[in-house]
Amino acid sequence: MGPLVPSARRGAILRKLLAWWNAGHRDLPWRFPQGTADPYRVWVAEVILQQTRVVTAIPYYRRFLGRFPSLADLAAASEEEVLELWSGLGYYARARRLHAAAREALARHGGLPASYGALLALPGFGRYTAGAVASIAFAQRTPCVDGNVVRVLSRLFLVEGGPRAVRERVWALAGELVPRDLPGDFNQALMELGETVCGKLPRCERCPVTRLCAAQRAGRERAIPAAPVPRARQRLEMACAVVARRDSLLLARRPSGGLFGGLWELPSVVVGPEEDGRCSLRDSLWQRFAFRVAPREELATVERTLTHRELRLVAYRCKASVATLPQGAPLRMVRRDAIGEVALSSAMRALLDELVPWCCARGRFGSRDSLVR
Ligand code: SF4
Repeated sequence: MGPLVPSARRGAILRKLLAWWNAGHRDLPWRFPQGTADPYRVWVAEVILQQTRVVTAIPYYRRFLGRFPSLADLAAASEEEVLELWSGLGYYARARRLHAAAREALARHGGLPASYGALLALPGFGRYTAGAVASIAFAQRTPCVDGNVVRVLSRLFLVEGGPRAVRERVWALAGELVPRDLPGDFNQALMELGETVCGKLPRCERCPVTRLCAAQRAGRERAIPAAPVPRARQRLEMACAVVARRDSLLLARRPSGGLFGGLWELPSVVVGPEEDGRCSLRDSLWQRFAFRVAPREELATVERTLTHRELRLVAYRCKASVATLPQGAPLRMVRRDAIGEVALSSAMRALLDELVPWCCARGRFGSRDSLVR
């Protein structure tokens, strides 16, 4: 089978795209001229940027590298410390895998390996992340395709079909296009073009490859790629126990896997559609921690839309004895001034803030300031 892209067209795309990149691109803290990139920093940025917008990612990236400036620092940290810094970014499995991969890379390779195959074998590395790190940090000729690249290349080559077929075709096209020289610059230029010019509403008049674009020529640039069919979100209600003593609240650590894995929270339980939140909470805390609570009135509610779920958290005041917490259970009383230091989901942070007036009214907390900022 011959090449997917005729060489003259490929050459023209490379020339125009790299010239556009070199003429000026956004100055982001994880951008390095080809050949000078720190692989660890490239990798951390790529992981944070999955599912996170650039403006949100920047302060997290800076904070993360301030605390863990090298792969060895990250590998030496506890999972809890890593989750604490990740708190609020969501998709916490990313942080757990980042941490696991840092340990494995250090143990097996003494650092991040340069080869695409070895990167792909590390926890959390899919072909996108392995391709990005291999090309940007190690100048390997590997493609990397994110949502931006799918948009740009599916338009440039008028690729149509179902999302999976389009994505596979784009991977094949990207694999042919990526040059041996400056593969990292090329990959970043494609992503940058998708982010800044070829967005959902493309600005073709500003595009460096507009004369080479098949979708634009066909007047179909807004129709490609087809919008994904939205998935119905599942409703998820969780009952949360508010166990307070003087200026402290009881927090529990969630198991490592699953939703909000490894984060701290008011001890909680998923409530089924026919179940009563108070009963579920009482039974669950006894079964999981051998900890008795007597749930009383509802104190606060928070609703959040997650990627695949409509989440509702309901906090119940609970009577309980915290003089002796069950041995070995992941439960601890946390003082108000330390709650902000704990790894919490954004939804749980919001719920804790809703509880501030109640805590103040009972003289537990002196100030009405947020608990978590
Ligand atoms: Fe996107 Fe328009 Fe450029 Fe085509 S010409 S790649 S549709 S911005």
